[in-house]
Amino acid sequence: MKFAVTSRGDSNSNTLMQKIRTYLMDFGLTYDEDQPDIVVTVGGDGTLLYAFHRYRSRLDKTAFVGIHTGHLGFYADWVPEEIEKLVIAIAKTPYQVVEYPLLEVYIRYINGGRESRYLALNECTVKSVEGSLVMDLEIKGQLFETFRGDGLCISTPSGSTAYNKALGGAILHPSIEAIQVAEMASINNRVFRTVGSPLILPNHHTIVMKPVNDVDFHITIDHLTLLHKDVKSIQCRVAPEKVRFARFRPFPFWKRVRDSFISD
Ligand code: NAP
Ligand code: MN
Repeated sequence: MKFAVTSRGDSNSNTLMQKIRTYLMDFGLTYDEDQPDIVVTVGGDGTLLYAFHRYRSRLDKTAFVGIHTGHLGFYADWVPEEIEKLVIAIAKTPYQVVEYPLLEVYIRYINGGRESRYLALNECTVKSVEGSLVMDLEIKGQLFETFRGDGLCISTPSGSTAYNKALGGAILHPSIEAIQVAEMASINNRVFRTVGSPLILPNHHTIVMKPVNDVDFHITIDHLTLLHKDVKSIQCRVAPEKVRFARFRPFPFWKRVRDSFISD
């Protein structure tokens, strides 16, 4: 089996990364940064997000497992004290894999048929560069509302505990194949109206955001922020691809939620 280890880059995480690499090679596993079957991340959820995007082209062949060194550890749910146990589990057992849904984003541009496709593990956010964001929202091809406000956040179930949660969105169990649309400070008065509640869209229901005046936006895909100019539309739906996590012990989602947000 081939493996890779990535680190947040601080000295603690780097030391741990070296240790894991040595241990796994001692067990006869092959270190392969380019084509790993399993990727061990050391740091926090941010480190796992980076690894996800790095191995984005081989999601069907790579499974992820995360160790957290002091950070939150929602995806990264192993602690440094457990690395011997984890290494033995990786080396010895055929491991279980759980799959979580992802968000697919298509950005299409004015002038020509140019489009870009992205996959998000947490979410995509859209904000205007200047002033309020004004967007027509279409769901399944029908105009739903004209949104005015700070921005919109479209998240995956496993990303629902990240930015989406700060916006008052619901926490969605990752066994539910859906995406969630949450508003950022919508303008609501006699003149302007939005639904106000977060929306949860099932598989195959597509949401398309179309600019009403401005065509330049700050669009984030997980930790990545990009300025997109001349945007014609942004389309989101549940992706056909999934992310795969290697599971070596039961650690139910609701327990992770409790440990992260209430008390461990
Ligand atoms: P960051 O600024 O370090 O991330 C913010 C926090 O979100 C960190 O504590 C991070 O955990 C945690 N986190 C990431 N994914 C999570 C998840 N699925 N569930 C629960 N918590 C999660 O930046 P980053 O580490 O590169 O992460 C990027 C993410 O930050 C974005 O995808 C977005 O969700 C989030 N974010 C949140 C807000 C907000 O809540 N107002 C604003 C901007 C961005 P670690 O410390 O373990 O990395
Ligand atoms: Mn982080």
